[in-house]
Order: sequence, then structure tokens, then C-alpha cells
Amino acid sequence: MSELIKDGLRIDGRKPDELRPIKIEAGVLYRADGSCYLEWGGNKVLAAVYGPREAIPRHIQDPTKALVNARYNMASFSVKERKRPGPDRRSTEISKVTSEALENVIFTELFPRTTIDVNIEVLDAEAGTRCAGITAAAVALADAGIPMRDIPVACAAGKVDGVVVLDLSAEEDQQGDADLPIAISPRSEEILLLQMDGHLTYKEFEEALELALKGAKYVSKLQKEALMKKYKG
Ligand code: ADP
Repeated sequence: MSELIKDGLRIDGRKPDELRPIKIEAGVLYRADGSCYLEWGGNKVLAAVYGPREAIPRHIQDPTKALVNARYNMASFSVKERKRPGPDRRSTEISKVTSEALENVIFTELFPRTTIDVNIEVLDAEAGTRCAGITAAAVALADAGIPMRDIPVACAAGKVDGVVVLDLSAEEDQQGDADLPIAISPRSEEILLLQMDGHLTYKEFEEALELALKGAKYVSKLQKEALMKKYKG
């Protein structure tokens, strides 16, 4: 078995509670209503928001609220082996959980009969792309001026070599024991998404959740800095 933790440090030199480097830029696309470019470790993600705009065809409209339609897509060149273009089971699942996470913070009742479309394009993938995608989508929604209870944010924790760690790298994701991505509303700490791959004891689960919450709160600050940079100059 390969060693993922040596002398208390991870393969990429991080401490167990350390995030990969993160860079966020708001408002990068001219034609989208709101957009964001985000780098998180080796992940590169672009999010574009359109709407609220009239939902078409009309039979999909909800007279009481806006539909939130997130579409997560991995570019065929984003992974080592060329990925077959187009939707698959994994992207359909991530699109669904992302839509649900975002829908819970948006004041959808203000925009009946509309859709809010959120496109997430993964340009480079290196583990944790759903968290990177949700985090970028949240900034793009704020950039589009969509009213939200809070700016959601996502982060994962997990377990490698029996140690609970923050923000798994690709190797850790593949060879580790568990991955626990979460999305939260940072002010209320309401959980908007929680998924788990692998096995954790209850105690480890609590520890991982705590760590992911801490990580998410730090990323939340970076989201706000990116928005302030665009709007305050
Ligand atoms: P997440 O990206 O949210 O961690 P997964 O746990 O499903 O989602 O995927 C982990 C990582 O596996 C991805 O970030 C990506 O680097 C890699 N991966 C996912 N799908 C493919 C694929 N079709 N081909 C190669 N690598 C992939």
C-alpha cells in the first residue's frame, strides 16, 4: 500500500487541515449575466449564470417560483484519458445535487415562471470538482445579482491512511478511505449538500464534518474578496 501521509504531512506537503491554493475571479464573461473563474488546486472551473429569464417551453414553468437549473460538464480534455463528451451518470448526478444546493439559498419565489441557468464547465479536473463548481456557481449567481439568503460555498474533507484530512487531492481521492464533500450556507451553517464516498466511523464523520465546515468558511472569505474586487475595484 502506498503511503499517503509521511511524518504528519501529505504527499503534496500539506498538513492534514490545509486547503490547496484557491484563486477566484468574478465577472469574467461578457455575455453571461454573472460569471466566475475559479482555480482550486489543479481544478480549473468556469461558471456562467443566465437569468432569471422566461422558462421555455411554458409547460415547465412553475407559477410560484423560478427553476434553478445547474448543468455540470467536464470538458473532454479535463482528465488524463480523454473523456467522452456530453452528459453521463456522474455529471447528471452532480448537476442535480448542485441545482438543489443552490435552489435552497436563492429567493426563487421572487421570480415565478422563470429559470435561472447555471453552467459549470470543468476545464481541468483534479478531485473535488463538485465543490469547486458549487463555489464558482455561487460567485457567478452573486455577480448576476440574483437575490440569495447567503452566498453558498462548498468544501470536502475525508480520510487518508486513517487520518481525517481537509480537501483531498487526486491521489488521496483515489487511494484514500473516504471523501465527504459538503456545501453550506456559511452564515447559518445550514447544510445544502452532503455526500460521502467510503467509510468513516461516527467520530471520524464528526471530525471530518467539522474540518469541512472550517474549510468552507475560509473559502467563503475568498468568494467575498473576489466579489469585492470586481465591484469595489
Ligand atoms: P469530485 O470531482 O467532485 O471529487 P468524483 O469523486 O466523482 O467527483 O471524482 C473525483 C475525480 O476523479 C475528479 O475530480 C476527476 O479528477 C476524476 N474523474 C472523474 N471522472 C473522470 C473521468 N471520466 N475520467 C477521468 N477522471 C475522472
